Order: sequence, then structure tokens, then C-alpha cells
Amino acid sequence: RSQQAPDYLAGLNPEQRDAVVSTEGPLLVLAGAGTGKTRVLTTRIAHILSQRLAWPSEILSVTFTNKAAREMKDRIASLAGDSVEGMPWLGTFHSISARILRRHAELVDLKPTFTILDTDDQIRLIKQLLAAEDIDEKRWPARQFAGMLDAWKNRGLLPKDVPAADSGFFANGKGGKLYYDYQARLKTLNAADFGDLLLECIRLFRENPEVLAEYHRRFKYMLVDEYQDSNTAQYLWLRLLAQGKPAPEANICVVGDDDQSIYGWRGAEVDNILRFETDFPGAKVIKLERNYRSTANILKAASTLIAYNEGRLGKTLFTDIAEGGEAISFTQVYDSEEEARTIGEEIEQYQRQGDALNSMAILVRASYQMREFEERFITLGLNYRVVGGPRFYERKEIRDALAYLRLVAQPSDDLAFERIINVPKRGLGDATVKMLMETARHQRIPLLQAVRLMVETEDLKPKQRTTLRALVAQFDDWAWRADSLPPYQLVEHILEESGYMDMLTADKSVESQGRKENLKELSRSMEEFESLGGFLEHISLVMDRDSADSSDAVTIMTLHSAKGLEFDTVFLPGWEDGTFPSQRSMDESGRAGLEEERRLGYVGITRGRKRVRISAAQNRRIHGLWQSAIPSRFIDELPPDVVEVTDRGSAYGGYGYGGGASSRFNKADPFESVYETPGWQRARANQANRKGSGPLTIEGDLGNQSSGYALGERVFHLKFGYGEVIQIEGNKLTIDFEKAGTKKVLESFVKKG
Ligand code: ATP
Ligand code: MG
Repeated sequence: RSQQAPDYLAGLNPEQRDAVVSTEGPLLVLAGAGTGKTRVLTTRIAHILSQRLAWPSEILSVTFTNKAAREMKDRIASLAGDSVEGMPWLGTFHSISARILRRHAELVDLKPTFTILDTDDQIRLIKQLLAAEDIDEKRWPARQFAGMLDAWKNRGLLPKDVPAADSGFFANGKGGKLYYDYQARLKTLNAADFGDLLLECIRLFRENPEVLAEYHRRFKYMLVDEYQDSNTAQYLWLRLLAQGKPAPEANICVVGDDDQSIYGWRGAEVDNILRFETDFPGAKVIKLERNYRSTANILKAASTLIAYNEGRLGKTLFTDIAEGGEAISFTQVYDSEEEARTIGEEIEQYQRQGDALNSMAILVRASYQMREFEERFITLGLNYRVVGGPRFYERKEIRDALAYLRLVAQPSDDLAFERIINVPKRGLGDATVKMLMETARHQRIPLLQAVRLMVETEDLKPKQRTTLRALVAQFDDWAWRADSLPPYQLVEHILEESGYMDMLTADKSVESQGRKENLKELSRSMEEFESLGGFLEHISLVMDRDSADSSDAVTIMTLHSAKGLEFDTVFLPGWEDGTFPSQRSMDESGRAGLEEERRLGYVGITRGRKRVRISAAQNRRIHGLWQSAIPSRFIDELPPDVVEVTDRGSAYGGYGYGGGASSRFNKADPFESVYETPGWQRARANQANRKGSGPLTIEGDLGNQSSGYALGERVFHLKFGYGEVIQIEGNKLTIDFEKAGTKKVLESFVKKG
């Protein structure tokens, strides 16, 4: 070998290099955002391979999202070159667990083809169990129980491990039994839910030492990204796998940032990081401090914000990136519609300057914020993709299509069968379906099997018998063709032959066209898959659906799903108290909730390379009610010298009280005003002034207040122009605007026209 350092090490700083080449023994890389933790992991794998320390299949690498896993695969391929055969075990905790479970399914009472349930199926299943136990679902909602199941599974608890104190209160002492029943039902369905993937894998390892030993021999090196967000089950899983060697010699490398721990609500334990040095005595700890991602201004904003948190390990960050860069902008707008409009304009402007849409992202706190942007971008014809939130694969038509496919792949998938038996309508009444279910239950056979039996009996009406017989024949046919047709063609055949497409065509509603397009998109996304099984496996694991789509588009996603990513320009809308930080975190008594929100803010800001644009609406509609909002308390915590404040919204009258509004009303060009007094300070002062009269909340029936306007009166509104009053409810006016159409506005926002 030559004496020169290999190419892949050349670009790294000394600490990063150290982390890459310290392959033997436990290693913890603890470092802030953008310091190259993920890059270190990738390079480390390349190093292990090029030094021939292990074969690809002897490396286990855990990423936080499937997208990150794909990116890592690409990077490794380009770093390590074509000389590498095969690929490491690279994926999320869930996808790797699923792969292991399929190899040993019998040992955990499953078949290798087991289905992975999603939330919808899970809820349906729980509802059935609640009904079977005569539990009132209104008092004891299925969702609540699903949440409990999730929490238990995240903590690595099997039914026998759940303390009665934890499960007892649900449905008056039935919680524990329900967990047993639920697990038993999953086995008969040959299914696992998301939490099971880890939990059953842990059980597999614990109950079958010889299987665990096989993986001890196999995995010579283990690597974990985003370790700060691992939960107890994941921690147990890792510990079991690392036990092949005495702890001080385990080749396990974890990287993380305590300031980016944002999944506490889902059971993540940031303490896992702190525990690492105890679990693996003598572990090497490397800190990375140089940030390669963001401008100095962005770093300063993020660091100043996160410094308000108390429970921190404390890290420094610096950058060599030239100058401060653009200021962080903070813009106040009237409402979320204007927020979307403003951001849309800015995106188009950056695009004209030559920025790719791919380089821009809108990161929201809550997925309901997404819709406004989607609508605006559709109007503008601006290409966007939504990641996370209400996902593509959760749309009704997609789930229907998937149910057909699942049933073709696995005829015992009863939940899929229940979903599609009458979609499209086949004239099978509830009574028939119930009869089928009873037969299935009595005979302990899958529903589809029950149908086969029933069509041979006299129990069904002739018409239904014909229908069901045809349906079974269709499924047999599809199953037969599944072996030869590529999955994307199979799905097209199924949708045509089942009558699903005809159903959409017959449906004249606005949505049905969109549904057809989504189904086309589904077929497109299947093109890269050779087998139906492979595709379904992928589906049940994808958390983020932007992979197949390589076109240039703005990304809209939640802050949570943005972890680990980076964009030149990041928009952070909705920085208002109650939206971000969330109302819930503000209502909580301790600091924990608010600190987690602040970490989310830190994650959001540090996604930006060059530009971070924060905004807040002054009015927001929450659960159908208009509420005035004040800028997020986190705005106060940003360093004023790197923040530039623009106030657009108040130009329209903003809060609509006092003299302030009218003086702002007179601004010559409200869109260009940059105020010297930071808008947020003024807003806070306003909020304080208002305290006496209570917060200004526009809601409910205010009919007892009289209006200064009359029906038919002509009025002027700065935002919407001239219009005529067509309805009056208290201080709310419905106005038919000449240009803007019919809108409901606050009386204080209009003038007599
Ligand atoms: P996060 O905490 O957000 O996940 P991270 O610590 O994983 O961040 P990376 O994503 O690995 O950071 O790196 C951030 C950016 O800096 C990437 O674009 C990466 O390619 C770049 N980078 C990292 N190290 C170097 C280096 N030594 N030289 C040049 N660029 C680097
Ligand atoms: Mg990373």
C-alpha cells in the first residue's frame, strides 16, 4: 500500500479523521449540527471496506430515515468504488429489524411473508378487539390504546412485562388483556405492527441465543447515526447485538447531538448518549466543533437560541465560512394565506436569481400548516413535494390499491380484505360480510378462504355467490400473474379489472381526478421494483416518500422529518406562540416540553446553509376559530444583531385596535417597511397592553354586539379592496369584495368605502 493517506481522508479535519480511522473499540462522536457526523459515518464505512477490515455484509449501519440510508448507500458506492461487492446492512432500526425477523419468522410465530401494519390497520384491529370486549369506544378510544401500545413497545415491554399500574386504568382494568389479545390477533393475521419489528427482534435474540450468536459473528462493525433519538427498545436491540465482544472491545460507533433530540414524545431517551460511556467502558469520545454547513449568522442564531435550554451537555460550534452571510429574516404577515403568498413570491424570486427549487425547503411545526402552501404553489404552478405529514401512501385511493396488492401477495391478509371487499361497491351488504367473518372465525381461516367455502354453500344469495366467485377467481388470476408481470403493470391491471378505475371515472367530484393521478403516481413509483414482495416491504417501511421523485421541487416537510438534511434556503413559517412552540408544550408545567420545542427550533435553523427566513402570522385559524397570535417566544431569544425584521401584516391593521393600526395604515409602501423597533418587541408590548381586556380572540357567536355597518353598505379593506357587506355577525362582516370574492373579516379592519 502507498504511504499516502487515502483520498477519502484528504478532505477531513483532524478530529473527523480520527473518528474515521478509530475503527476498533467503542466510539462516541458527540457534536453539534453540520459538523460532519454523518459524513464521518459514511467515510468510516468506506475506510473499513477499503482497508479490508470487513466485508460489506459484516457492517451494520443504522440511519434515522430510509432516505438517509439511500443517500449513504450512494455515498459509499462513490467513495469505496466499484471494487466493493454487496452492500452493508444499512437502514433504519425498523427496516433492519424487519429483515432479520423475516429470516427467523417461525421463531416468533410468524411466517416470512408477514405483513407490516400501518396505523390505519392497527386502529381497525383495536376497534374490533374493543367491540369484542364490549368496551365503549367513545369512552376508551382506539387511538388512545394505540398510543399506549406504542409507548410500551418503545420501552421494550412485552404483554407480560407491562405493570398493571400502567395498563390497568384503560377500560377499567382490561388494558393488559387487550395487549395480549392484540398480539395474538397479529399472529393469526401473520402481521406485525411497527413497534413489533423491534420488540419481536429483541424477543428473538433473547429467546434464541444461537440466533443472536450468528449475528454476533456476522456484524464486525456497528454504526448508528442520530443516536440522541434512539428509544429504549432500540437501545436494548443495539446492546444485544453489541454483546458479541466484551464491552470495552465492541466495535460500535454512535454519533449524535443532544441538542437535536426531538423525539422525546415518542419515547426517545437522550440519556442513551450519556449512558454510552458507562455501557462501553473506555469508549473513545470525539467532539467535532467546526460547522461546514451554515453561515456565521445562521450558526449564531442557532447557538444563541439553544443556549436558553438548561439540560445540555454543552458544545461549541464555529465556522470558517466567509463573513456573516445574509441576516436571518423575520417577517410578520397578516395570516397564513399571506404567509404562503409571501414565501411563494420569495421562492420565485430566488428561482429567477438562479437557485434550484431543490435547494429550498419549508419546514413546518405541524402538518396542518402544509395545506396553505400546497394550495398556493398549485396556483403558482410551482413544483413542490410534501415529505412527512399526511403522506402520499396514506391517501385513501393509495391505501385501497395497496390493500389489493397485499391481498394478492398474502391471501391471509384479512385487514386488506375487509378494506376492499366492497370497494368498488359489489352489492355485498353488511350481513354478508358479517357472515363471512363469522365463518372465518369459527373455522380459523382467513377471510378469502372463507369466501371460497361459502360460495359452495347455499347460505348466500345467488347474486352474491356469483359476485364473490368472480372476485375469488380474479384474485387467483392476479396472484398467478404476479409472478410474471412487473408490479407496476400488475397494479394497473388490478385497478382496471376490479372496477376501481371505473368507480373513479363515474365519480364526478373534484377529488376523483386527483385520485386517478395519485394512482398513476403509485404505478410510476413501482417501476423500480422487480417483485411485488419487494415493493410491499418498501412501502411498509417508507417514512419519507420523495425518493422516486427526482424533479426540481421545493420541499415541504415537518421540522421533525428534516433532521439530518440541509438546504441552501430554509423557510420557517408559523413562529407564533401556540403554533411553535406548540400550545401543549407551553401548557405543560415543567420545562421539558418547551426545551424540546427549542431543540426543534435549533434543528430548523441549522438546516439552512445560506439563508433562513422565519415568519409569523398575526392571525391564525385554529380549529375553525380566528385567533390573534403573537410571535414565538423563540424570536425573542434570537440575537437581534443577526436578525432583520420586516413587518408586512400590521400594514393591514394587524390587531385592529388602538391608534397603532391606523398609523401603520398610512405607510406608503407596507411591503417594503423595515422597522427599527423589532416587530416582536412591539407585538409583545401590545399583548401586554391587551392583558386587561383579555386576549383578542375572534370566535363563536358575537351576535349580541352591534355593528357599525349595515347590510349592503360599501366598505374598503386594505387587503381586499372595495366590497359590499352581505352579512353581519357581531364584529365580523361577510363582505363580497369586487376583486377578492366573498370573505369574512373583522369590522375593525375595514373603513366605510
Ligand atoms: P446534522 O447534525 O445536521 O445531522 P452532521 O453533523 O451529520 O449534521 P453532515 O451532514 O455530515 O453533518 O455535514 C454537514 C455538511 O458539511 C455536509 O454538506 C458535509 O458534506 C459537509 N462537510 C462535513 N465535513 C466536511 C469537511 N471536512 N470538508 C468539507 N465539507 C464537509
Ligand atoms: Mg447528520
